[in-house]
Amino acid sequence: MNLIDPKLAATLRHPADLVERGLAKATDLADLERVAARYAVAVTSDIAGLIDTENPDDPIARQFIPSALELVSTPGENADPIGDDSHSPVAGIVHRYPDRVLFKLVHVCAVYCRFCFRREMVGPGKATALSEAAYRDALNYIREHQEIWEVILTGGDPLMMSPRRLAELIEALDAIDHVAVIRVHSRVPIVDPGRVTDELVAALRPRRASVWLAVHCNHARELAPVTRAALARLADAGIPLMGQTVLLAGVNDDVATLEQLMRALVSARVKPYYLHHPDLVRGTGHFRVAIARGQALMAALRGRLSGLAQPTYVLDVPGGHGKVPIGPAYLGDDPDALTVRDAFGETHRYPL
Ligand code: SF4
Repeated sequence: MNLIDPKLAATLRHPADLVERGLAKATDLADLERVAARYAVAVTSDIAGLIDTENPDDPIARQFIPSALELVSTPGENADPIGDDSHSPVAGIVHRYPDRVLFKLVHVCAVYCRFCFRREMVGPGKATALSEAAYRDALNYIREHQEIWEVILTGGDPLMMSPRRLAELIEALDAIDHVAVIRVHSRVPIVDPGRVTDELVAALRPRRASVWLAVHCNHARELAPVTRAALARLADAGIPLMGQTVLLAGVNDDVATLEQLMRALVSARVKPYYLHHPDLVRGTGHFRVAIARGQALMAALRGRLSGLAQPTYVLDVPGGHGKVPIGPAYLGDDPDALTVRDAFGETHRYPL
């Protein structure tokens, strides 16, 4: 089934192109070819334009330009770190919690993030989308399971579908009475904002169900004016926007960067939703941050940002056991004297 819009011409997909554009070093080319043979590479023109080629530690480059470090695996890493496969009753569906399913329809993205938790599913040689028969079976599964209240379109990136195919899908889900909420997880408005056309926005407006859009954004510099305009088109259409961020070493693992990002998201009418602890994905050890560090960053954010701008720090428990909040604790553990720590680190007694 050809679900993918053909307009991808300007995207850089080969290490040699990255070298030619000055986004990677010629001396690294052989290593990068080895990485690209294993994990997909794609850098949109919007993202390429944001990269500071003078800065060897540029946080945008670090997310999208391949590195030889991806060839290094560390203990505990695996191909399916969040256990999707163990909860998949039919192809394309992950049914982990009774009231909601993931619907993984397309296996391609506008960019390929170097830390991606589904990198083994969207890599070279993988199918680009579900077959027509598997698509019908997945929809039937949702129809037959009345307990499904929310369908989460993920992937790959569901906004890689053409607006026409996306509209057909949203209409099919809207026709299932027990589906109240359709949630779309996408990086497209951030990395390829030109795809957020009026037609695409219209496709996200069903007659009955609510559509929510979670956008993946890791650094304030990703919110360029053209991206903010795309987000405004979505928000103006009445689509609630949420932000998902992955905590990444060398990208956003300091409090000033996170604060700036959360403020930029809220200013763009995107409610910060999750700050994900990085998953145990093969070849991504160089992005991993200690949980204690993530908790310290969250505690620091609490003193700097309003509740509106606070994400929940979450960990996907390996093995398919779902997400749990892992933010810092504010209550003391003395059973005789309840104590609570305030946003600035001071402890106070609370009457029992
Ligand atoms: S857009 Fe999402 S699914 Fe695609 S590579 Fe990035 S993190 Fe992975």
